[in-house]
Amino acid sequence: MNSKTYYCENCGGIMEFDVESQSLKCPNCDTEIHILNEKERIVEHSLTKHAMQTIRAEEKTTQTMECTSCGAKIEVDSTSTAVECPYCGSSYVLAQKQEDSIVPDGVIPFQIDKNRVGELFHRWIKGRWLAPGELRHLYQKERLQGIYLPYWTFDAKADGRYTAMGGRHRTVTRKGADGKTESKVVTDWYPTSGNIRRAFDDVLVPASRKLDEGLLRKAGVFGTGQMASYSPEYFSGYGAECYTVDLDDAHGEALRTMEHELEKMAREDVLRRFDEVRDVRVRADFRDETYKHVMMPIYTTAYTYKGKQYHVLINGQSGIVEGDYPKSPAKIAAIAAAVLAVILLVWVFSGGRKEEQYGETRNEWTEEICVADSENEEEMTWVYLEDSLPM
Ligand SMILES: [Zn+2]
Ligand SMILES: [Zn+2]
Repeated sequence: MNSKTYYCENCGGIMEFDVESQSLKCPNCDTEIHILNEKERIVEHSLTKHAMQTIRAEEKTTQTMECTSCGAKIEVDSTSTAVECPYCGSSYVLAQKQEDSIVPDGVIPFQIDKNRVGELFHRWIKGRWLAPGELRHLYQKERLQGIYLPYWTFDAKADGRYTAMGGRHRTVTRKGADGKTESKVVTDWYPTSGNIRRAFDDVLVPASRKLDEGLLRKAGVFGTGQMASYSPEYFSGYGAECYTVDLDDAHGEALRTMEHELEKMAREDVLRRFDEVRDVRVRADFRDETYKHVMMPIYTTAYTYKGKQYHVLINGQSGIVEGDYPKSPAKIAAIAAAVLAVILLVWVFSGGRKEEQYGETRNEWTEEICVADSENEEEMTWVYLEDSLPM
């Protein structure tokens, strides 16, 4: 297998991508090598039928390679394109394997240093107020992995026409049996339609299913402004994957995302003229469609709590943390008890007030106000309780 290690010209150490200097750096002697970034090389490709028919992930099999530093046999995952020797820590970049499938157009280099992730993890777990307190001590630096994940991005111009039903509110009043005027709001529905137009830029679709989809959807939000032109040097010291999701399938997903956005726009458009909206239907034409293949930085880690494994993803550009965590039964019970106490208090309180009102003329209207009041009180007490809970 064709593999490359970036040796330091000064001391022979293995150079790895360094977040702070955004260059290749030798950990022994601090020698730095600038990575060539030619932004003009990041081009959008036309999304042709041919591209969609031919850009397909091939079946790959696990391979073995020999570590040139320590001689160990390393098992390389079928989709990995940058690996570390588990015995001596040497970094290998399998650039050929990456480029065999399709040369990435761009890469967002890691912006968050490995050493900062522990701090981000602690802050995240501290903010999950239902998580047991012990979780804070479960972060293990050794379980952290930084990998470049492949994505497809799509651009398109969309012209759409929509139909919908718009609702207008109207207040009707009538005299009740007791001589008082009652009023209520009714909605009249009218058919409506309109045109919408939008240019989409860099709609991201993951090209690998290696990581938890739900977590990745939340953690995998990247700003493409920091995109650099592709160079395998960025992968040194990290893991990297080649794509396993076909361009065609990813395009379908991107279209669904764009259609969803157009529907949202149509809804907002209707609400400019009406009070309510329903039954929105959009027909859109997409033109000038282009795509890019890019690599995005993600840290993955996991921790074990009471025999169960929980996964956590950290965005390597923004530092956003998304992960699974257990909810403490004791904390949930404490909150349930507190809520129950509040409801009981409110009930006693509003019950007392109602009794006072029995003396006066009692009508439906004042009772409604009373209920609304107690709901507010409950909410205010909630906030207070949340803040005072031991974390
Ligand atoms: Zn060196
Ligand atoms: Zn080795």
